[in-house]
Amino acid sequence: MSFRVSVLTLYPEMFPGALGLSLAGRALADDTWSLETVQIRDYATDRHRTVDDTPAGGGAGMVMRADILAKAIDGTAPEGDPRPRLLMSPRGRPLTQARVRELAAGPGVTILCGRFEGVDQRVIEARALEEVSIGDYILSGGEPAALVLLDAIVRLLPGVMGNEASGTQESFEDGLLEHPHYTRPQEFEGRTIPDVLTSGNHARIAAWRRAEAERLTAERRPDLTALRGQPVTK
Ligand code: SAH
Repeated sequence: MSFRVSVLTLYPEMFPGALGLSLAGRALADDTWSLETVQIRDYATDRHRTVDDTPAGGGAGMVMRADILAKAIDGTAPEGDPRPRLLMSPRGRPLTQARVRELAAGPGVTILCGRFEGVDQRVIEARALEEVSIGDYILSGGEPAALVLLDAIVRLLPGVMGNEASGTQESFEDGLLEHPHYTRPQEFEGRTIPDVLTSGNHARIAAWRRAEAERLTAERRPDLTALRGQPVTK
């Protein structure tokens, strides 16, 4: 069964975008996942197809209206739709590989992309939207964030990656950053490949990779160490 994606956006033309190419594009073409884009403006009620209004309390920018968004959500993923309803938002829980893995194991996702200053708080509550952040910086809209989230999900869907094993040996999968990689040529600008990697001794290679992963993690991301030993899902 296909992993079903619905994206609510003011810019449906941004999809599938980069996800129409390479692994994700092939998976889309062979129906491993399906993509529906919904133009939020189609749910506007006035002649100008307005979806936003000025912020209550004043201040700069515009806010996306709760009533219009609720209708768009209900028209796309009505009550009983088993897919999680996500809102891309810098205030959301930062996305992790563990959450990506959970989402990829499910039936699909409905994603709401914000624009302007964001969306009226009441629709977040009334439709139980899960706010998801892709990092501590501000984008101009939720669309690039949705593309990032979907890229991370789609590559985990069954059959998408050629080498299934590479999906479980990567950075973050066990609270470690990945070890460094090397390939031919044997010498590059005076730098050689570490001897152990060309030794043919698989036990020594595995031990070296593990030690390098631990060294890099301690050096760059000591915060990840807290995740060590926890099951990959959650
Ligand atoms: N005024 C808001 C930022 C709005 S940015 C604030 O200060 O929090 C406009 C839209 O871009 C948001 O509604 C959200 O959908 C998207 N967006 C921006 N940064 C994001 C991030 N880091 N992760 C996920 N979505 C983001």
